Amino acid sequence: MKLKRLNFLVGLLSLLVLFLAGRIEAGTLPRVLVLATGGTIAGAANGNSDTGYSAGQLGIEEIIKSAPGIDSLPVSVKAEQVVNISSQDMNFEVWRKLAMRISQAVENEEADGFVITHGTDTMEETAFFLSQVLDIDNPVVFVGSMRPATQISADGPQNLLDAIKTASCIDSFGRGVMICFNGRILDARHAVKASCLEVTAFDSTIGGSIGFTDGHGVHYITPGGLHKHKTYKLDFTKITELPKTDVIYICADMDGGMIRDCVKRGAKGVVIAGVGDGNMPEDCLKACKEVSAQGVQVVRSSRVFQGYTHRDHEFKDADYGTYAAYDLNPAKARILLQLLLACKVSDPQKIQAAFNGDRHGVLYYIEK
Ligand code: GLU
Repeated sequence: MKLKRLNFLVGLLSLLVLFLAGRIEAGTLPRVLVLATGGTIAGAANGNSDTGYSAGQLGIEEIIKSAPGIDSLPVSVKAEQVVNISSQDMNFEVWRKLAMRISQAVENEEADGFVITHGTDTMEETAFFLSQVLDIDNPVVFVGSMRPATQISADGPQNLLDAIKTASCIDSFGRGVMICFNGRILDARHAVKASCLEVTAFDSTIGGSIGFTDGHGVHYITPGGLHKHKTYKLDFTKITELPKTDVIYICADMDGGMIRDCVKRGAKGVVIAGVGDGNMPEDCLKACKEVSAQGVQVVRSSRVFQGYTHRDHEFKDADYGTYAAYDLNPAKARILLQLLLACKVSDPQKIQAAFNGDRHGVLYYIEK
């Protein structure tokens, strides 16, 4: 009896949430807007070769038509081709277009959820960028494939079907930007391409999957509602580039020459892909101290696939003018640093806070 009452209350509450969110009206299907950018999911083999193929060959309409099951989903799917490129050529111009198109579609109530098809190589970067700049509750789900559309057992159609289900699922609201790949759902902050070979290409740098998809639907294994509204309010109609920021990959027996050189070539920020907990040889540390004294912001991340880079771990960061990236890998730390530089944040406490737990709820605005 008690259980029944609880179920009833939970059901009532869910309906109330749906109603308040304006997500459902009787008889209306959830609307998913697919924004296509290319990648292997749009790839085609060169002639009959089993080895070579070119990414970004097929248009999104063709990809959707060839994926069995999408047309029978209880979802209204619309698609737009934003670009058709390999994701190693992804750039700020496309990020900007995606951010503006999604914000506009939410404002005009054109879509409930979004799917972005993308090459796998830099998917985690575009996903993280959008996770930092979109100020919406609607789900944004990235998807791609490891095998081109023309290959036997192409993984794209299943991944796309799963991503559309995820983007149209009410449980996905308020979870921010995600990557849906090979049946796993990962959050943009920690998703990373972890294999350049297997169809199980994506993994998490910390914390594992947040959910999964299967024939029964979309299932989350972490609580929802943790996603906070975004910190970086950039006017994308005005910003056409982000400040130059380089990542320096640290190895044993290396000097600090590359750190000094990238600053000479105009870097305003440097991210160290350090060994272990963001460590580096003595001369690299010396170089960090020199460039930070020149006003360059230096963030220590780690080249290690999983884990965390702590502040003041083996030395005092303040002694070298460095910041710890905590749970962000070098590529994502670079994006966050670029956003901070674009917003002209220079207060050391605010910069460090953006990388640690205080990152949510702090508002930075770009100066006009
Ligand atoms: N390098 C291409 C890209 O990232 C193909 C890799 C892929 O999509 O899996 O777009």
